[in-house]
Amino acid sequence: MIKQLDVRKNETLFADVLIVGGGAAGVAAAHTLASENKKVIIVEKYGFCGGGAVAGLSGTICGMYEASEKLTNKPKQSVFGFTDKFAKVMSEKGGLSEPVKYGKTFTRVHDPLVWRETADFFLNNKNITIIFHAIATHALVEGKEKIEGAVIWTKQGSFEVRSKITIDASGDADVIAMSGLPNFIGDNGKVQNPTMIFRLLNVNVKKFKEKYGENTIMPIEVTDLIIKMNKLKKYNLPRAKIWLFPTTRENELICNCTRIIGLNGEELNSLYWKDFTMAEIQGRSQIREYAKFFKENLIGCENSFVNDTGVQVGIRQTRQVDGKYKLKNNDVVKGKKFKTGIARSPWPIELHSGQKPKVEWLIDDVYEIPLDCFKPKKGKGIYVAGRCLSAEHEAVASARVTAQCFSYGHAIGHASVLSLNEKIDTDKIDGAEIRKILNNDGAQLD
Ligand SMILES: Cc1cc2nc3c(=O)[nH]c(=O)nc-3n(C[C@H](O)[C@H](O)[C@H](O)COP(=O)(O)OP(=O)(O)OC[C@H]3O[C@@H](n4cnc5c(N)ncnc54)[C@H](O)[C@@H]3O)c2cc1C
Repeated sequence: MIKQLDVRKNETLFADVLIVGGGAAGVAAAHTLASENKKVIIVEKYGFCGGGAVAGLSGTICGMYEASEKLTNKPKQSVFGFTDKFAKVMSEKGGLSEPVKYGKTFTRVHDPLVWRETADFFLNNKNITIIFHAIATHALVEGKEKIEGAVIWTKQGSFEVRSKITIDASGDADVIAMSGLPNFIGDNGKVQNPTMIFRLLNVNVKKFKEKYGENTIMPIEVTDLIIKMNKLKKYNLPRAKIWLFPTTRENELICNCTRIIGLNGEELNSLYWKDFTMAEIQGRSQIREYAKFFKENLIGCENSFVNDTGVQVGIRQTRQVDGKYKLKNNDVVKGKKFKTGIARSPWPIELHSGQKPKVEWLIDDVYEIPLDCFKPKKGKGIYVAGRCLSAEHEAVASARVTAQCFSYGHAIGHASVLSLNEKIDTDKIDGAEIRKILNNDGAQLD
């Protein structure tokens, strides 16, 4: 009889903190915890970190600078802490542009490969075990609501990771849902559109900018041209207001322009396998149509071609935790501040829903996000971090961007450290205390 090598034997791993998901939030939380000498296991579905920013090819770090009616060439930075640290390293590695104009504010274009390498750099710590190509499939729940880790699936088989605290940085509130803790989906189940992003190479960026200007939100003449071409049935381009970003590489644009919807015009929700599959196929077909339109109509794009797309369609919104506080649409619009605020955001509401994206600016101001947005209404030993925070539909259309997801991970890392050191339940940690700790760690919240 042939003896099989047993690679599927059961094993249980232990950590102070298990982090599910290696997007911006997961990376920030892992780095923060490890820097405070806590043992971390981070599991990530892909073979690299970055989530929506890398696999979804989001393109830029939004949310660092304030918007202004009189946009000068001097952006006002209002988000620091881990976001700033990560941006500096990425910039040193040549993978982050200087601020570029985006409507009434600025953003910074990143190279997705450098993003991955920068994450590797921040996770290279003896206290961190990274498990790539691993999916959390079940939560380990003690009693009714104490979370003690998760079951992880890899090619080696399934095994348990047991932890004192679990951070759900999956973007989709997966662990919250697996634990049966309160959660919700968008506006009564309606979520924002996915977008398939792609990179266009061999663009004469100089000519392109001379014609269309420095602002990465394309001018009205491009929008009008798209509408006209659609009417003439020359192309089928479902989104007319589009964003094209020159990147850190020569002759390249990152194109945020597709609008992926269901057969009857409904928003697709990637939690459902049918919607997710349809979004991928539709995304691939749309990018070809846009690339053809660019090549045939836009100055500077005459010799361009598609270099690649995101590894997956970009997902803006799925399931979120129903938290002790739900960030309100009005908190964003009115620039609300909280004593327990652990992150700030100057980013507008940028809602990708319906015919065209709606952008509602917050001018010369920021709003804050309190710690209670990351604590489920009930449940212990668990936080969320990242875009699956507790926030209303339009509020999350602002609060989900990368600079803020880094900030949330930074804050939740510190909240977990305090909970472990002082033996205080996760749900009892005071946001005001975390704000002080974050200020001592460079966040500049006051
Ligand atoms: C089309 C599009 C364009 C965007 N453009 C911008 C932009 O220009 N600038 C900007 O700042 N933001 C942009 N965003 C938003 C931003 O990219 C994301 O909101 C942000 O990256 C979210 O970070 P996160 O860490 O919360 O989650 P994610 O980035 O979603 O990361 C979650 C991670 O968890 C992993 N994961 C999920 N479930 C499991 C599981 N069960 N087990 C193991 N691993 C799991 C995923 O693989 C992923 O890596 C865009 C988003 C989209 C979709």
